[in-house]
Amino acid sequence: MRRRVAATAKPNPAHIALATLEQKLQERLFLCTQNVDDLHEQAGSKRVIHMHGELFKSRCDRCSRPPFHDTNTYDPSAELPRCDCGGRIRPHICWFGEVPFELDRIFRSLDECSIFMAVGTSGVVEPAASFVAHVSSRARTIYVGAEEPANASAFTECLIGKAGEILPALLPT
Ligand SMILES: [Zn+2]
Repeated sequence: MRRRVAATAKPNPAHIALATLEQKLQERLFLCTQNVDDLHEQAGSKRVIHMHGELFKSRCDRCSRPPFHDTNTYDPSAELPRCDCGGRIRPHICWFGEVPFELDRIFRSLDECSIFMAVGTSGVVEPAASFVAHVSSRARTIYVGAEEPANASAFTECLIGKAGEILPALLPT
């Protein structure tokens, strides 16, 4: 169901502003998302860290075969698809209780960052909600989103409004 819904979604001006920023900053921009859709990639971003996985990838729950591109929609009443090894094919998504992906890389980048921006996140789901606290002693920290996040007091600035309107105005084009 989620794949069917996401397949029709299109990037908004915030995704495009971040892709443009990556073209300027290259590897000096570290873009990490909690979103599992591919809208950043559709907008042109090349180096996206999907800490909660990717909706259009699947993986085997048993063998070390790497996650693979998968746009199939599966009939929930049918048997689960199987890998050649006999393991079950599952979404490459971080489910509740599982450890998010790439945390080592994420914390290395947090240790190096001078400007930290969080966009459109609730400030509730850990570990992402604590990233701002991890950098706040030395980085300028900015929140952009429609509603004040639960961790608003940890930010230097909170810009409340639609990310699709604020980011294109805030970021150089
Ligand atoms: Zn397998």
